[in-house]
Amino acid sequence: IISPVITIDGPSGAGKGTVCQHLAQRLGWPLLDSGAIYRVLALAALHHDVSLDDEAALVTVALHLDVHFLSTAEGVRVILEGEDVSMALRTEQTGNAASKVAALPGVREALLRRQRAFRTQPGLIADGRDMGTVVFPDAEAKIFLDASAEERALRRLKQLQGKGFDVNFDHLLNEIRERDDRDRNRAVAPLRPADDALVVDSTAMTIDEVVETIHRYVCAKI
Ligand code: C5P
Repeated sequence: IISPVITIDGPSGAGKGTVCQHLAQRLGWPLLDSGAIYRVLALAALHHDVSLDDEAALVTVALHLDVHFLSTAEGVRVILEGEDVSMALRTEQTGNAASKVAALPGVREALLRRQRAFRTQPGLIADGRDMGTVVFPDAEAKIFLDASAEERALRRLKQLQGKGFDVNFDHLLNEIRERDDRDRNRAVAPLRPADDALVVDSTAMTIDEVVETIHRYVCAKI
């Protein structure tokens, strides 16, 4: 039996992470944070002095990634080559580096099987950019969660400040726009809604409204 999948795609800061965590809790399904895999690859490249545009070398690093995602009471800890990189993973710098390696076709291909291996019973919630279009095109329910760049920069500002990072709004907005451009305009698996996705614009919605809308849609589909 093939396990069901719910895909949630969209640009950074649209609220995918929060929505996915709510859904995972309500349904009791595990979560694939595919962005974390691209982020881990970017960190591994830095560790091994591999340039972020050296596709062949990055593919080798991607195929041999020694990474573990450990669920703990405080959340998921990410262990790369024996080292806890959970903090380094979440910085804007790492997100930016991730979007550079993610633009390379060979890298995406090399990470495809690793992502599909997360499919499991009773079902999987997959968070990313191309979950509904490329990785799980046969998913039962596909959602594309969007929001204006300004709103996303504001949410990210609060989130990062809450975690103790020192950040600036204009700087964040610029980084979000730059990353959006790269993710939407790349040749392979560009960020776009799947034809059969429900598009939700969360700009003027509360997180509860977004979660309710998506939860209702998902329950009708699975
Ligand atoms: O979602 P997150 O900010 O962690 O993703 C970091 C970067 O990884 C994104 O900007 C995007 O370029 C890339 N990514 C991707 N495909 C995915 C998930 C993330 O290309 N499925």
